[in-house]
Amino acid sequence: VNVFFRPLEKIAAVMETYPRGIAGFRRYTELLATEADIADTPDAAPAPAFRGEIRFDKVSFAYDGARGVLHEVSLDINPGETVALVGPSGAGKSSLMALLPRFYEPTGGEIRIDGIPIRQMTLASLRSQIGLVSQDVFLFGGTLRANIAYGKLGATEEEIRAAVAHAQLGPLVETLPDGLDTVVGERGVMLSGGQRQRVAIARVFLKNPPILLLDEATSALDRTTEREVQAALSRLAVGRTTLVIAHRLNTVRDADHIVVLEQGRVVERGSHDALIEAKAAYYELAS
Ligand code: ATP
Repeated sequence: VNVFFRPLEKIAAVMETYPRGIAGFRRYTELLATEADIADTPDAAPAPAFRGEIRFDKVSFAYDGARGVLHEVSLDINPGETVALVGPSGAGKSSLMALLPRFYEPTGGEIRIDGIPIRQMTLASLRSQIGLVSQDVFLFGGTLRANIAYGKLGATEEEIRAAVAHAQLGPLVETLPDGLDTVVGERGVMLSGGQRQRVAIARVFLKNPPILLLDEATSALDRTTEREVQAALSRLAVGRTTLVIAHRLNTVRDADHIVVLEQGRVVERGSHDALIEAKAAYYELAS
């Protein structure tokens, strides 16, 4: 094994994408730096298989001691539910999401999964059960197969084929000169934003985590691609507890709950219809 790849492998075991869109994870190097800061607590134990109940209990957070980014945010999400986070830019949506895999530590309050504080879980056992699809997908220079298989160490050919089908990458694979063995990324075929997102989706299908974090793309995909990505994401979310930073009306409509954040506080929550009816923060955002 190439020594250069070792740190990458270590992280590959716990994460399938480098979420550059998630707060503080805009560069891979930043991820390594943060990895060094946050470690297993002395009493950390491997988490059991999650049912996927997530509870944020008065969670506060600041990147530096000075300015609070989240203020006593509470959220209860039942297993299998989808919660859409909406709010203006800078409201703290990405930051809130980044706390769940413990990319950062809250400055107050507690986050529990199935009743267990995430601080008491080993990072590996926590992150191995959280899938992440963000706007910016990390592809390394290698074959498409390797880039997908990255979602699960030791994935079989059959599993990879199934993930390709679930993520609707089949048509792409057929057009590539060497199919799944085509080298992609800077050294080979450049994939479009929509194709890269589907690689991330395929990785998460392979990983099959009970919890899913989605950071929906704001960048314009063409309508067909957007629909395809959207369809693949909807299928991915089935049966998983999903927290999504939502930019599309369809996603918000389909969510079990919508949470509106403003300046680090939950200002409103409810269903699309109820929030439209209320004619307050969500109504303003949506119109
Ligand atoms: P957007 O919709 O634009 O992504 P958001 O609601 O996701 O916004 P965050 O990205 O969580 O908001 O940002 C919340 C606040 O935290 C902002 O004031 C932002 O400038 C700040 N912030 C985000 N990432 C960092 C970081 N790595 N270090 C310091 N401050 C940060």
